[in-house]
Amino acid sequence: MDLKKYFHMNSGAGKNSYASNSKIQGLIICKSQSVRREAAVEAYLGTGWPATMSVADLGCSSGPTALLEVEDIMEAIERECVELRRQPPEFNLLLNDLYGNDFNAVFRSLPEFYSRRPGKGLCFVTGVPGTFYGRLFAAKSLHLVCSSSSLHWLSQMPEELQQKEGSPAACVNKGKVFISAGSPPCVAEAYRKQFHRDFTTFLRCRAEEIVRGGLMVLAFMSRKNREAAMMEDLYIWELLADALNAMASENLVAQERIDSFNAPFYAPSLEELEEEIEGEGSFCIRSSDHFGAGWDDDDLYSATGGAAADGVIRPVRYAVRMEKGVRAVAEWMLRSHFGEGLAMDDLFCRYGELLAKHYADHEAAMTNVVIALVRN
Ligand code: SAH
Repeated sequence: MDLKKYFHMNSGAGKNSYASNSKIQGLIICKSQSVRREAAVEAYLGTGWPATMSVADLGCSSGPTALLEVEDIMEAIERECVELRRQPPEFNLLLNDLYGNDFNAVFRSLPEFYSRRPGKGLCFVTGVPGTFYGRLFAAKSLHLVCSSSSLHWLSQMPEELQQKEGSPAACVNKGKVFISAGSPPCVAEAYRKQFHRDFTTFLRCRAEEIVRGGLMVLAFMSRKNREAAMMEDLYIWELLADALNAMASENLVAQERIDSFNAPFYAPSLEELEEEIEGEGSFCIRSSDHFGAGWDDDDLYSATGGAAADGVIRPVRYAVRMEKGVRAVAEWMLRSHFGEGLAMDDLFCRYGELLAKHYADHEAAMTNVVIALVRN
């Protein structure tokens, strides 16, 4: 499975699309807003008030969240310019995602986006397809980089867990699709190593591209415990494995395919992240923080309020949203590993039922980190 070439969220605007199921990611952008706005102003001032400011969003996807971060950044800087009585900069907005992303949907939304800025300065949007685990932009060409809900995706399944012909038998994660309390210790170690390789590459590439004094604001899933197998959010994958295993017991999917699938996902602890950044050395940590984001917050933010207005009980409502959210991001990946024969509706129906049981006595918030870094 070549993630770089083919990985993408469900495109379009249908019921299983990312655009229709990315509310929680929108919430994460809201909750990390103040860090992003402060970093934007600091990058503008710290890079000498550039006349043209280049801002990149890495892993923009498509749908209602695709332009949220860059819009917010422009607004923060424009507001600062009013205070400073300065002409605001023009903006180069560089939206990156993998080749399979629905960039057309993003481009189609641009007239409406531009029309939301009457009387404001000029901004120019460019799509930049490619992996952020490689160079994407010219050297020293960026003032600010932001990324939300993207860096928990690894470049590939952990190398040490892949079965390669002619090489010694890899560590096997039987009946699981991610680190689990029941996985052999080599599994968490393989994930840790893959994250280290990927995140170091990410930092090295951005260090080339960002000018001195420029900033990076990264928000993505993390874990509170240092111990990977104690991650609070393991249930997302654990229950997916349970649903797949139930299908395997009815011969609807081959057990061997489950054993060889390991989600290309990793949620580091804050300490682990800080160690990686300090170890690589190109960036200084300006701020770092954990925050939770879940459906309770969504109820708070939504117009209907927290009560189950539609009469559906809470765990079931949460389960439906989570099942749709995970389907929108993972369907392609599952299809490419398990083949077209895997009955997605059946899998996600089972998954939804397991989630509803889980939410009956567990919290629904997921841990995220937001970290602001300055280029030395
Ligand atoms: N930032 C958006 C989208 C998050 S979804 C939001 O907050 O809603 C995660 C996105 O990251 C997906 O669109 C996925 O294709 C993209 N992504 C994952 N790995 C990537 C990589 N290596 N390079 C670029 N984009 C990547």
